[in-house]
Amino acid sequence: MNCIFNYSLQALEDKLLSLNLKKYNAKQIFEWIYKKKIFDFKQMTNLAKNTREVLDKNFIFNLLTIVKVSSDKKKEAIKFLFKLYDGNYIETVVMQFNYGYSICISTQVGCNMGCKFCASGVNKKIRNLEPSEIVLQYLCAWQYLNKTKKINISNIVVMGIGEPFENYNNLIIALKTFINPFGLQIGQRHITVSTCGLVPKILHFAKDMPQVNLAISLHAANNNLRSSLMPINKVYNLNVLIETCKKYVKMTNRRLTFEYILLKNINDSQKDALALVKLLKPLLCYVNLIPYNETNLCNYSRSDKINNFFNILNKNRLLATIRLERGTKIDAACGQLRIKECQKKKF
Ligand code: SF4
Repeated sequence: MNCIFNYSLQALEDKLLSLNLKKYNAKQIFEWIYKKKIFDFKQMTNLAKNTREVLDKNFIFNLLTIVKVSSDKKKEAIKFLFKLYDGNYIETVVMQFNYGYSICISTQVGCNMGCKFCASGVNKKIRNLEPSEIVLQYLCAWQYLNKTKKINISNIVVMGIGEPFENYNNLIIALKTFINPFGLQIGQRHITVSTCGLVPKILHFAKDMPQVNLAISLHAANNNLRSSLMPINKVYNLNVLIETCKKYVKMTNRRLTFEYILLKNINDSQKDALALVKLLKPLLCYVNLIPYNETNLCNYSRSDKINNFFNILNKNRLLATIRLERGTKIDAACGQLRIKECQKKKF
């Protein structure tokens, strides 16, 4: 049976018509699920009894199982380890900021991109997440957190396990549900998708989701260093990537974000900062400097020059921020919790 969370509103309308139900039922169902968070057709009281019976026979609500929830002392970061219907694990983190709550979601089980500093890349990709599994990270985390305190998760970052653009079609279906007025109705500019640089998909994304923010994981400003940190650079090098980013900005008129994790003695020198300025200055963009979350799964250390690096960018008028840290004490670097669980279960 089909999991109801896999459907965009339009796809659900088409499916209902094929079942001889009314197209407008789709909006009613969406409101029950995404606004009222009711996951049972029997409780959808504005649907006719026979409609509910047909729905019950054709759709299931396949929720994620919460295996573990950990949080730091201040509860500024709450990390969920979810088990999927086939026994695989994924991670999701909810973070509290002064503007409200933000959720970091995964798009794949494991990742094939092999970035050397990333715990998620240690285990290869097992499979793509279905649209439902992307959307359900939000719904299940929301449901769990709202048992104790009424909160609203207003921002989404697609920066968890996996390369979102490697699971492009399912990502777009999930994004449609996130932004739909009858769905979760999250403002498009409150959603950020991060890619390590799958160049062809950057232009597709500019066409499909021009109002959703795009972030590029950069982490180095020269090809040799970037290729040694991120194998994707051997396929789409910096020259190709930056040219594509220029096209993206031209198509969308949106400011891009470049993420730059500062690794001690690897990419944190004055020379690196000046190379970054030279590379990005011509672009409508800003740089998000990220303190490294150390893990014993990767051989890198946190840089102690982050303020220095920031000041060089600032002095050279390259817009930059330093990412606020959340969850360093709870294995919040993406993939760490899942790997521990897989090691326990000898995956
Ligand atoms: S940083 Fe992102 S793209 Fe790179 S290995 Fe980790 S999850 Fe994959």
